[in-house]
Amino acid sequence: MINKNNKAVLITIGDELLIGQTIDTNSAWIAQALNKIGIAVLQRIAVGDESQAIQEALDAAIAKAKFVFITGGLGPTADDITKPLLCNYFKGSLIRNKEVEEHITAIFTKRNRPILERNLKQADVPDNCKVLFNQLGTAPGMWFEKDHSIIIALPGVPFEMMGIVTNEVLPKLKKLVTDHFIIHETVITAGQGESFLAEKLIAFENKIPTDIKLAYLPSPGIVKLRLTGQSTNQAALQQKILTFKEELIYLLKDSIVALEDKTLDKIVSESLSNNHLTIGLAESCTGGYIAHLLTQHVGASQLLKGSLVCYQNEIKQRILGISAEDINTYGVYSETIATKMAYAAKELLGASIGIGISGKLSEDPIQSEIATGTIFISVVTNKHQIHQKILSLYDRERNKEVAAQAALLLIWKIIQKELA
Ligand code: AMP
Ligand code: MG
Repeated sequence: MINKNNKAVLITIGDELLIGQTIDTNSAWIAQALNKIGIAVLQRIAVGDESQAIQEALDAAIAKAKFVFITGGLGPTADDITKPLLCNYFKGSLIRNKEVEEHITAIFTKRNRPILERNLKQADVPDNCKVLFNQLGTAPGMWFEKDHSIIIALPGVPFEMMGIVTNEVLPKLKKLVTDHFIIHETVITAGQGESFLAEKLIAFENKIPTDIKLAYLPSPGIVKLRLTGQSTNQAALQQKILTFKEELIYLLKDSIVALEDKTLDKIVSESLSNNHLTIGLAESCTGGYIAHLLTQHVGASQLLKGSLVCYQNEIKQRILGISAEDINTYGVYSETIATKMAYAAKELLGASIGIGISGKLSEDPIQSEIATGTIFISVVTNKHQIHQKILSLYDRERNKEVAAQAALLLIWKIIQKELA
């Protein structure tokens, strides 16, 4: 018999997932939560609101996994077929759950909305499941058991699903899984592509044991390297992974920007705040996006003085004080103008670091010698300057992303120079 222990399959249900209208974020969230308690996700499957497809997915999942998660299709409308289907599949019958009924009634009364019979029907649950109470919505979750597997059905609405998993499911699963651990350790590198890193790590990869996996995860500006291991002995696994992580850090020391999994904007924000540095931006082609990224984090007001989105040349002149003559002489798409923008932002906003960014993101008769996708970034402090010219040949949205990530990396580099 297959060993199903510590393994999960996630089934997400909904036509919207198959036509690409909704992105399946539920699986990603559940997978992370399960990994933390030692459950490995074997497979993720998306199926439409269609009973045969759902049953086939369930059969296959129960055959190979101890834990089967289902999200979606528990709503009050006719297109939501998961509940009657599960009731049938597990050979139960629907009975009204008083506690859920009272909860639904309370929600509608509080919102001053009339209750329809179809709303109350959400309190009908199969008599052979444990009800997983949904504090944040009307559709309860359900816990079934079959063939040594546990099947957990949850609503599709992400925050309701998360509430039930956090409050009802994880505490129960933690008690069941006490002898299996999964550990991920991540380091983040910048400035070198994954192939180049892989060349540097040939000997390292040959040395790591087969029960530890190394993964390369590239995204604009950075490559994340993740070590993953699974074991019954948590302390020994932790020790082993950390030893390899230290070697990785040693081998890649010049490229490493962080020792754990986080975004570049978070890394830069922490670095600015730890070193009591402030930042002022003059953004042209990124349209305020760098400021958006930096304001994602608590405490942004301590480090971000502001961002001047100076898109038109006339504004670069009037607000940043760059002369028309300079723009004519050097071209608005140039290192010189990006640098002047950076100094202007630093002075006008009273920041310790100034950033100027100017790029050609669409066909423009001006400066025809400059290719579309060319972006100039300058980062300046009282003591230092760093410049970068990028040619980013994607669509507009991704070019802005590339520009913003490159700018963040330059901020990180100039902080290192300031600290040296
Ligand atoms: P349902 O429980 O099928 O009525 O789903 C309700 C809503 O939850 C849908 O309209 C989607 O917007 C959202 N949703 C359903 N499944 C997922 C999923 N796998 N990931 C993210 N959102 C989802
Ligand atoms: Mg649905």
